[in-house]
Amino acid sequence: MTKKSHKRFAYPWGIIVILFMYPAWGIIASIAFFIAMVMGSTAPDYLEFGRIKHRTFTHLPWLWVFCYALGVSVTSHFDMSLIASCIVAGICLGAISHWVGDLGTPMGVPILSTKKRYSLNMWKTGHISEIKPIIMAWLAVIALAGFKVLHPDL
Ligand SMILES: [Zn+2]
Repeated sequence: MTKKSHKRFAYPWGIIVILFMYPAWGIIASIAFFIAMVMGSTAPDYLEFGRIKHRTFTHLPWLWVFCYALGVSVTSHFDMSLIASCIVAGICLGAISHWVGDLGTPMGVPILSTKKRYSLNMWKTGHISEIKPIIMAWLAVIALAGFKVLHPDL
């Protein structure tokens, strides 16, 4: 996926999370989460710094889940602000959306180790087919927004 498509794919993911977390987080933490999520959606590529082999360590999904758990635990344990936790969560979830976006490309992504990549082969980087996951994510936003309208207390 291109950098632009990764960001476009992250917008609906961020909106889905905010749809359900906004009552607990409020406006400032929700905005911080969303900005961090969009920045995180390109993190696995820019953290390669042109030195790490493409789609290896920075594209391991469990590494981002670990970073999420560690980051949210540390920010909570040391009584840092909710905003700090939301920034960590946003970056890590953005990176996971990046992984999903790259999973659909022919090159694929690693899962457990960097030795082997897996691909769903559903869209191609830089091709119009990249719009498929973006449309699916926006359809999920519409469906979940409808659910939220019907069940506002959830
Ligand atoms: Zn990537």
